[in-house]
Amino acid sequence: MNALSVVGRRIDPVMGVQTKAIAYLTGELSKRGFRWLLPVILSSITDPLWPDPAAGEALKPPEVEAYGRRLRLTHSMILHKQMAIAMGIDRLFVLSPNIRLEGREADDGRHAYEFTQLDMEVAGSSMDDIMGLIEDLITGLFRELRPILWEAFERELPRARKPFRRFTIEEIREEFGSEEKASRALEEPFWITGIPREFYDREVDGTWRNYDLYLPEGYGEVSSGGEREWEYERILSKIRSSGLSEESFRPYLEVAKAGLLRPSAGAGIGVERLVRYVVGAKHIAEVQPFPRIPGVPAVI
Ligand code: AMP
Ligand code: MG
Repeated sequence: MNALSVVGRRIDPVMGVQTKAIAYLTGELSKRGFRWLLPVILSSITDPLWPDPAAGEALKPPEVEAYGRRLRLTHSMILHKQMAIAMGIDRLFVLSPNIRLEGREADDGRHAYEFTQLDMEVAGSSMDDIMGLIEDLITGLFRELRPILWEAFERELPRARKPFRRFTIEEIREEFGSEEKASRALEEPFWITGIPREFYDREVDGTWRNYDLYLPEGYGEVSSGGEREWEYERILSKIRSSGLSEESFRPYLEVAKAGLLRPSAGAGIGVERLVRYVVGAKHIAEVQPFPRIPGVPAVI
């Protein structure tokens, strides 16, 4: 691709759908009393993305030096969401740009190295609360988009009936072989729960209280969420057992140690992945005006 082929693409209809999707989702959350935060792009702490099986090998966030401090580019705002909950902002969302520099092998049509999450968090809520919220948002969005999708893309979305089917990660692997295969076999959005991953997702009696939303037609994961850990000792021991450096999370651990983190749950929806699915695009680059494909230098 060169600059002329990037600029020559007819992407306006996709941006029309994206505009409607963002307007609907942010409107719904605003109506439900959520506060709309602005994103943090540079920070002293960010998501380790480890050991999430869906993330590449322990990614390292790029750093910049600012005012004598090394700051990282945001992988995700999860730790900031927990801090915002600690501040007393009980229901929040943010359209958060995330940078994740993965290798060429991550280019499966679903990964970009710069993308945006609609990231939300609710104090004192449970996984059932957040799964219900996401189901409302997704079914409402499909309803909203159906007429324009048919007109502009001749695309029909499946009927998504609430509650979506739920499987544990073990059930998915046993019944379908893999998450990918389940996404090709099932015809409606579905949940996968109980995924061993980062320290901030809550684990109760060996069960991970977290959940991923998968889309049909092989589109795969579109949202990840979980109940969160808030107790200092548990967080510290999980950071240590994941082999992460405590130093990388110092301000977060300071707040946790002071007992200021609160129970919460939340989720993030990948905006480009959602738009890719609703318009039926093959590759995520088709829904990014300025594609950011892992392993491929950006043209513009
Ligand atoms: P995560 O918490 O890492 O699962 O990220 C939350 C959501 O962001 C995922 O469910 C995806 O929809 C989206 N996402 C994560 N990584 C990428 C990526 N590399 N490219 C595009 N979207 C992504
Ligand atoms: Mg995920």
